[in-house]
Amino acid sequence: MSDINHESTEKSTVQLNIIREYFEMYPNVEIQTKDVVDWVISIYLERTGKIFRDPDRGIRSLYQKGFLQKIAKGVYKYAPEYAQNKRQEDFTTAQKNEVLKRDGYKCVICGAGRENGAELHVDHIKPKDMGGLANIENGQTLCSQHNFLKKNLKQTETGKKMFIRLYELAKKEKNQDLQEFCIEILQTFEDFNVNGHIEWEK
Ligand SMILES: [Zn+2]
Repeated sequence: MSDINHESTEKSTVQLNIIREYFEMYPNVEIQTKDVVDWVISIYLERTGKIFRDPDRGIRSLYQKGFLQKIAKGVYKYAPEYAQNKRQEDFTTAQKNEVLKRDGYKCVICGAGRENGAELHVDHIKPKDMGGLANIENGQTLCSQHNFLKKNLKQTETGKKMFIRLYELAKKEKNQDLQEFCIEILQTFEDFNVNGHIEWEK
C-alpha cells in the first residue's frame, strides 16, 4: 500500500516539475493551457515512456500552490517574483489546517468556534508587511471580528486596547487583583515604549 502511494506521489512530482519547466521557460508570459498540455505530454512520454493523463489538473494544482497566477479561464502566468513571495508569505491549506487544529478550532482571543457560528481565519502573528512568514509558529486562529480588528489595528495595538478595556471594567467592579494585573501589563507597554499613541489612565 505505502509503495503504491509512494510511487504515485513520485509520479505526480515528476509531472508537476515538467509543467513548471514549461512555465519557467516563459516567465511573465500569459499562456493558454492547451499550449502547455501538448508539450508536457510529449516530454513526459519521452522521459518516462508513459502517458501523462491529466495535465490540466497539474496546472490547477500549481495554481493552488501559488506557483502560477490565473489570468483568465484556461490562461495562466508564471511570475517568478510573485511565486517566490507567495511561497514564503501565504499559508498553504495544509498549514492552515495545522494551525486551526493546534488552536482547537477556536479564536485565540475570544474562544469563539464554528459551533458558535464564528468564521475562523488563520492570521499571521507577525504581519506579512513586517516580514512575517508563513510558518506554523507565525500562525494563529482568529474569528472574523478579531481578524478584522487585527488587520486594522495590528497585534500590539489590539492587545493594548483590550487591556485598557479590561482595566476600566476591573476599576468599575473594584476588582483589585484584576486591576493590578492590567496595570502591570500596560506598564510593560510603557517600559518598552510600545504604542504610546494609545493612552490610558491609572
Ligand atoms: Zn475572536
